[in-house]
Amino acid sequence: MDLKNNFSKITKSISESASNVVQKSNELIEVSSLNGEISNEEKKKNMIYIAIGKVVYNSFINKAELSEEIRHKCEAILEHDEQIKIIMDKIINVKRVKKCPNCGVDMNISINFCPDCGVMQKLIEDDNTL
Ligand SMILES: [Zn+2]
Repeated sequence: MDLKNNFSKITKSISESASNVVQKSNELIEVSSLNGEISNEEKKKNMIYIAIGKVVYNSFINKAELSEEIRHKCEAILEHDEQIKIIMDKIINVKRVKKCPNCGVDMNISINFCPDCGVMQKLIEDDNTL
């Protein structure tokens, strides 16, 4: 009698634990899915921040009156554009290929006239000293 009672208590406790595990696991799945929704909303917010930044940057380019803080940030973008140009020149030197500024065709950096459209190319210094 007592043994049967204990056994029934144990099985009840096991089935309660199992049910708790299922409940916890469902809870985790739901929380993780809701966290995913939050992260999607955050991504959408960040895209809007970037869009706002581009509007402000365009007004900087168009010489609008801006606060000093915003002007400094816009000037930092210009510095990064300069860095990008320098890196692109390095790529040209590594690949020894340049793009025609007129038609976009690739050609060897030593060619002075585009073989496709005939436009004269900006002379890029050959860096053989390295
Ligand atoms: Zn061309």
